[in-house]
Amino acid sequence: MKIPGVKGMNDVLPADISRWHEMESVARDVFALYGYREVRTPAVEHAQLFARGVGEATDIVNKEMYVFEDKGEELLALRPEGTAGVVRAFIEHGAYVEGPQKWFYVGPMFRRERPQKGRYRQFHQIGCEAFGIAEPFLDAEQIALLADYFGRLGVRAELKLNSVGDQNCRPAYLADLKAYLTGRKAELCPDCNDRIERNPLRVLDCKVESCQPVLNAAPRLLDRLCEGCRTHLDQVKAGLDALGVAYRVDPRLVRGLDYYVRTAYEFTSDALGSQSAVAGGGRYDRLVETLGGPPTPGIGFALGQERLAMILEKNGRAATVRAPEVFFVTADAEGALEALRRAAELRQAGIACDLDPRGGKMRAQFKQAERVGARHAVVLGGNEVRTGQAKLKDLQTREEKPVALAELASALRRP
Ligand code: AMP
Repeated sequence: MKIPGVKGMNDVLPADISRWHEMESVARDVFALYGYREVRTPAVEHAQLFARGVGEATDIVNKEMYVFEDKGEELLALRPEGTAGVVRAFIEHGAYVEGPQKWFYVGPMFRRERPQKGRYRQFHQIGCEAFGIAEPFLDAEQIALLADYFGRLGVRAELKLNSVGDQNCRPAYLADLKAYLTGRKAELCPDCNDRIERNPLRVLDCKVESCQPVLNAAPRLLDRLCEGCRTHLDQVKAGLDALGVAYRVDPRLVRGLDYYVRTAYEFTSDALGSQSAVAGGGRYDRLVETLGGPPTPGIGFALGQERLAMILEKNGRAATVRAPEVFFVTADAEGALEALRRAAELRQAGIACDLDPRGGKMRAQFKQAERVGARHAVVLGGNEVRTGQAKLKDLQTREEKPVALAELASALRRP
């Protein structure tokens, strides 16, 4: 019986993996330049962490979270996002005593969404979290890091920036927004109607065409920011200008949770179609406290690796395969044993090589050498074993030259 993979959960095959390696290795290199260090937290946490850390009013927790009872003992969840777990670890290990910290993570996340292009049930995120600094230049630096990262991967993404205010200016605005949306209920989609009471800011996020006129005309928090939030936003913009990072202020960009304050940002790409966001971030100055830590400001983002992989592929960024330098073609059992030994020797010297332990027809082995992209072939049989001499064949130029088996590694290094 054939058992298929789980719906919305994908395999990344060897032919594509180099793009994933590149995404991750460039992230590690770039993030290190900005002082971010990697943290690894479990894929499973107490369900309650996300209820509090992401918010019960959100779809992510409310509708999409994979929750299970662990043998009747406790309610656990597959993490739907990375921030809550990272903040938990930050608090649990008392990392705040060391002062400001910049951490990043890479890993799978799980949301039971309706699968479509760019939206999966298991997906992967790379994310950064910076703790302990409330000043706006940190926001600008983190956004610039992400722009820098995309730049190094040759990805063009548009940066949208907004402020979602804070506890001083947001409550009065929310009351006005709710009143406005309630008055225009009939013109809004069912999802919007559902969110007016629960999470009115999120209504502004709706992409349904028929809702746009109402939402575009809605009161804007950007016009109602308090002095502190206004100055913060101005400073983030000044920082981005100083760093040469282009942005567009989008008054409808939101993060729909209470502990998100001030800076909200998103990178989108035309290459993605309807799920155009490749990364999203924001400041969450009250989250550490909400999860039981000391008051500690924070700001973070997460980028979706599947979406970034789609952009890289669309850009024609080739997935590269490390092809063997040498493929040993064996003529007989003696040659096969010698090939096994010589391959081990080359691998110790850091030279990729391969052979087919089934042996068989030499012509088929040469074909296989070409299929795996080997640069050279060396034929080994009893004769070569006895003389210690073989022929090194360049599979591209078809040239052959004699080589002493003992000198194979150096011959390959200095062709
Ligand atoms: P979020 O955690 O919802 O702010 O999402 C941050 C980024 O993760 C998005 O910009 C997407 O690139 C990616 N992402 C979120 N949800 C999914 C999903 N279901 N499938 C694939 N990528 C996702």
